Amino acid sequence: MRLEMMKGEEMLFCPVCKSRTNPNKAQIKIHYQENIYYPCCPLCQSEFERNPDKYTGQENKRKNKTD
Ligand SMILES: [Zn+2]
Repeated sequence: MRLEMMKGEEMLFCPVCKSRTNPNKAQIKIHYQENIYYPCCPLCQSEFERNPDKYTGQENKRKNKTD
């Protein structure tokens, strides 16, 4: 039995509601920046896409942006 959860690429839980998801069974897959996220349902997917920074911890970096 090998643990392969340390790769740092895939988030094995829903980024929105934090419930665990199985990447092998996930029907929804979001590739955002360097990571792949697996929302558990279409509702979480739309919520994630509406405000991805909130769920990826990137929100604080915005203040350095100069758009
Ligand atoms: Zn969810």
